[in-house]
Amino acid sequence: MFETLTKAPGDKILALMGEYAADSRSTKIDLGVGVYKDEKGVTPVMSSVRKAEERILSNEKTKTYLGIAGNKGFGAAVLDLVLGDSVDRARVRIAQAPGGTGSLWVLMQLINRARPGATIHVSNPTWANHNPIALNSGLKVATYPYFDPATRGVRFAEMLAKLDTLGAGDVVLLHGCCHNPTGANLTNDQWDQVAASLKRTGALPFIDLAYLGFGDGIAADAYGTRKVLATAPEALIAFSGSKNFGLYRERVGAAILVARNAEEAEITNSQLLNIIRGAYSQPPDHGAEIIRTILEDAELRAEWESELSGMRERMITLRQKLAAAIRERSNSSDFDFVADHRGMFSLLGLPVEAVDHLKAKNGVYMTSDSRINVAGIPEDRVGDLADAVLAAIR
Ligand code: PMP
Repeated sequence: MFETLTKAPGDKILALMGEYAADSRSTKIDLGVGVYKDEKGVTPVMSSVRKAEERILSNEKTKTYLGIAGNKGFGAAVLDLVLGDSVDRARVRIAQAPGGTGSLWVLMQLINRARPGATIHVSNPTWANHNPIALNSGLKVATYPYFDPATRGVRFAEMLAKLDTLGAGDVVLLHGCCHNPTGANLTNDQWDQVAASLKRTGALPFIDLAYLGFGDGIAADAYGTRKVLATAPEALIAFSGSKNFGLYRERVGAAILVARNAEEAEITNSQLLNIIRGAYSQPPDHGAEIIRTILEDAELRAEWESELSGMRERMITLRQKLAAAIRERSNSSDFDFVADHRGMFSLLGLPVEAVDHLKAKNGVYMTSDSRINVAGIPEDRVGDLADAVLAAIR
């Protein structure tokens, strides 16, 4: 049987993590892997999460099945968190799924059931896993212009011009906030224009919301999603609780669908549940029960929001410090974009030789596209990092 197989390509991020672990220099800096890290360089269990887990441990009466859509309380709480009052809930359905990735997977399967082989348009560049999930689901992938390497901002006019050429039957994958890998995001005014374009063309908006709360705050980060939902007849959202609740390994996310009316929502949802049943039957509960417990309890929710603000503000401070350190040393505003970007990542726009140089000479690790995880910047070594980056491009 298996002699027919050849070796699949390894995962680049995992390979980079291995190289970092094997590097014996005490001065090494890990800006590679995409997880939040605190000032000690650890990815902590949030205190609100710990408390929710303690409650669950003492109160849980059964481990019996919850059903294909998973934890109902979690679903209702996530809809409140993400949608606000942007859309009539009668048109909305939600299914808990294993992480943002699992949510993307089941929703792309759903698209392929509705329109086999449809084209999904992703930003150039986009998260490295979007392509494989789409292709494995039977979809075709195309790109729309997004990142401008000259300004390190969004090529908005070109993006919009491309979106305007699409039609019903096309799918547009948008990062709801905190774009990965670039860190460059749409302004509210640009979201308004994207929403108007989607309405005009009838292309289906599909929002990947993996970093809600990591940019400028929960409501600010949900602006684009809510705007699109307020105008589009149909939409899909893949929500992840990995980053904002720090629940990476618990695999908690949600697939949200918005249909034209209640009747179509019911039919479409039956297909979504059918896909899930035939894939993994039901999602794991623990992470979802943690999120439900936190969001339904005023005290735990306040604590979570304050922890989330702490993570967000730390990342913004690190951005500002790095931009300032580079500006001071180079007497130029070339890296000021780092302070303007939002979320966990910034694409520095360095040539691959500079990325290699930083790794070999300074033990500074980032992905080969020059994406840095700003949460990985050691606060007391911002100056060293600024020196190293400038030396690498000199
Ligand atoms: N979408 C984007 C853009 C991401 O960066 C990630 C996490 N790296 C995900 C989705 C999925 O995250 P998870 O499956 O861990 O929830």
